[in-house]
Amino acid sequence: MTSIRARFAPSPTGHLHVGGARSALFNWLFCRRNNGAFILRIEDTDIQRNIEGADAKLREDLRWLGIDWDEGPDVGGPYASYNQSERLDLYKAAERQLLETGKAYYAFDTADELDAMRKEAIARKDNFRYPRPSNFPSDADAEKARADGRPVVVRFAVPNEPITVHDEILGDVTFGAGEVEDLVIVKSNGWPTYHFAVVVDDEQMKVTHVLRAQEHLMNTPKHVFMQRALGYATPVYAHLPLVFNIDGTKMSKRDKHKVVRTAVKEKLKSKAWTKEDAANVAQCDPAAFDRWLDKADTEMDMSQVSRLAEPAGAVIPEIDVHDFRVSGYLPEALLNFIVLIGWLPGEFREKLTREEMIAAFSIDRIGKTPGRFDRDKLLSMNTDYCAAATPARMLEAFRDWAAVSNSPLASLDDATAARAIEACKGMRTLRDIETKAGILFAPDEAVQFDPAAVKKVLDKKDGAGYAMLAKLLPVIDAQEPWTAEAVDGLIKKLCESEGVGMGDIAQPLRVAVAGKPVSPGIGETLVLLGKGKTVNRIRRCLALQA
Ligand code: GLU
Repeated sequence: MTSIRARFAPSPTGHLHVGGARSALFNWLFCRRNNGAFILRIEDTDIQRNIEGADAKLREDLRWLGIDWDEGPDVGGPYASYNQSERLDLYKAAERQLLETGKAYYAFDTADELDAMRKEAIARKDNFRYPRPSNFPSDADAEKARADGRPVVVRFAVPNEPITVHDEILGDVTFGAGEVEDLVIVKSNGWPTYHFAVVVDDEQMKVTHVLRAQEHLMNTPKHVFMQRALGYATPVYAHLPLVFNIDGTKMSKRDKHKVVRTAVKEKLKSKAWTKEDAANVAQCDPAAFDRWLDKADTEMDMSQVSRLAEPAGAVIPEIDVHDFRVSGYLPEALLNFIVLIGWLPGEFREKLTREEMIAAFSIDRIGKTPGRFDRDKLLSMNTDYCAAATPARMLEAFRDWAAVSNSPLASLDDATAARAIEACKGMRTLRDIETKAGILFAPDEAVQFDPAAVKKVLDKKDGAGYAMLAKLLPVIDAQEPWTAEAVDGLIKKLCESEGVGMGDIAQPLRVAVAGKPVSPGIGETLVLLGKGKTVNRIRRCLALQA
């Protein structure tokens, strides 16, 4: 039996999208389950779309998720290089083979000529099919065309016959004769197209199984026709269901623009902003902003869109694996969530360790219909994972999150960080630690008193909150020892002697030390802050009183 070899083949156009992560994960699980080899191949032949550094980002995202590869960039392997841009000789040889056997041909049409042919077809109410010449141009003809300044491409002569592609998930899918047109396999710049490079490399790298997104299903007949023409083996195909948002739209990078655009439009509609204001906030040219508003996503980059988000009251949704990392998700929770998109482990299990996923994985449990990306479910899963993780794991995860999100909490020493994590038990994401406890580690002057909280917690009942703080100040100042239990005990005693509830003391204290009625348990909060700073912050707060 030949051993299983599968690959994940991303194009280096940015961070790893969750849909890509799902494809990578399924291939990886399939290989690990069957003692196969998992290959990472970087598909970087579309030189205009490649983004500098994206290759490294993709690898980092995969490693963060705990997905490793047996062959690929960094680790090498018997079929190196694993970057397509370094494999041009192989594509050249395959191109030659097809040209010499009459299975591919040169074409010299300019973009305008192709456009005119397309328009003519539309006028005839026909589908445009590239008209294959009856005599294929020779190498000399191609040379001459090139010398005349014409773009010379190579097209594959697709056999005029129906084709049935077998898919492990969808069954047999048949495409009629003439449905696939003579596609370009080598561009005028000499670089192979995706379709051609993928076919050559799957053969050269002895790939036995291709698990990829369903959006590639229409490409598969092209690939199988080429495999036959070149005398290659056809791998086993399994096209994975798409990843949809909960509302049934396709989950894409565009969603980030959409959310911010909707919020900006609200601001414009309510006349809170003018278009000039908005363009200023984005630091964007007004005309480009206008086009962006009209759905031209490419007119603004993500940093410009991000500048608009908070002032417009929008929260940019996480789409890439890196977004979830910055938002404070644990990789093990994200991985567990992703594996359930379109795959059923059976036995009604939802929570799976990496080992359990490997043991349970099989292609026949992958569904046909799109999987939904349910953000609430992910958040609740992450909450459970945070609660179940060991303190050592949480500390490690916290360090990683603080570093990638540029959190000021990155500078905490291990002992303090561990206490902050412990104090924030019940957190949904690691970012909650910053939201809940971040202010405790900032300078006292950084505390900003939220006017609504001041009104509700301190001002009401004739300033009962302030009065309570004034009463607390000397007691706190005199308190020894300064431990969470002792501080909680002190507050409890005061509740009894004053005949008030816990909230009547804890909430004014929270507003005094954090500026808002949100913090970890009150004893833990004050101990994390330290006695001196607690006293100082209460004094600052009392000074607010008119
Ligand atoms: N480079 C392709 C992509 O990123 C790979 C598709 C495939 O797996 O064949 O979608």
